[in-house]
Amino acid sequence: MTGRLIVCPTPIGNMEDMTERGRRVLEEADLIAAEDTRHTLGLLNHFGIKTPMISCHRYNEQERADLILEKLREGMTVALVSDAGTPAISDPGEILVRRCRQEGIPVTALPGACAFVTALSMSGMNSRRFVFEGFLPAGGKERRERLAALSKEERTVIFYEAPHHLHKTLADLLEALGDREIALGRELTKRYEEMLIMRLSAAVSYYQEKEPRGEYVLILQGADPLVLAREEKKRWEGMSLTEHMALYSDLPAKEAMKQVAKDRGVSKRDVYNGLLKEES
Ligand code: SAM
Repeated sequence: MTGRLIVCPTPIGNMEDMTERGRRVLEEADLIAAEDTRHTLGLLNHFGIKTPMISCHRYNEQERADLILEKLREGMTVALVSDAGTPAISDPGEILVRRCRQEGIPVTALPGACAFVTALSMSGMNSRRFVFEGFLPAGGKERRERLAALSKEERTVIFYEAPHHLHKTLADLLEALGDREIALGRELTKRYEEMLIMRLSAAVSYYQEKEPRGEYVLILQGADPLVLAREEKKRWEGMSLTEHMALYSDLPAKEAMKQVAKDRGVSKRDVYNGLLKEES
């Protein structure tokens, strides 16, 4: 009989956040696949759990998945944990879960601690529509391109960040996305939990004076559609219709004309006639 994989969140700082069900699952599992077995040993010792562990981290997940799948095929119940919070959320787990699904091995997940959900729910920021970006790429073109893409994102944007990168990330966000409101959730569920809400420019100044400490979730206000429209207008204001059309050179002419008409709040016919006039 095939076993099953149980994705099991663990606390992000406060041991009391381990659920009853999570504890029982870790106790009753045949094996715990852990991101860092030494780290998880602390958790198991705290709860007096003696279940054997196998490591499954970012650098060996692919090959470990083979071994864990063998155990699952033998009928074992395997609990998957990461160092903190929900596995597979900016943590290892996705590969193993996908492999199980591909092979028809049952997978289930327990609800539990997750830093960004905790931060968002206590921030008061717009939580109706949001995107979770996890960690930004460390640098270079990839980071610049991600930031450029996010500059037009109207939904609330959520990032994870380590303290030693916080200042640079805040400065990059300010430069690429403009001065918006940001909520900084620090050391959530721990003794010195803090939620600071300010403008990005103020956050940059604040952390120039104060050294960032602990773990952070950043929740950034989405782009204001009115500001986006104004910026868009700045792009083509003063241009001839032919130049404006060139902004949409990647679109078929008909589509480009539709877009130009929409930007200027005129009809397609007006654009067409105007272009003919410019040509003559
Ligand atoms: N899987 C985890 C989850 O479910 O949230 C996330 C793991 S990710 C490797 C670690 C990042 O999560 C940290 O760098 C920080 O951005 C965020 N984080 C984790 N615990 C936190 C806490 N107690 N307070 C604030 N942020 C936290």
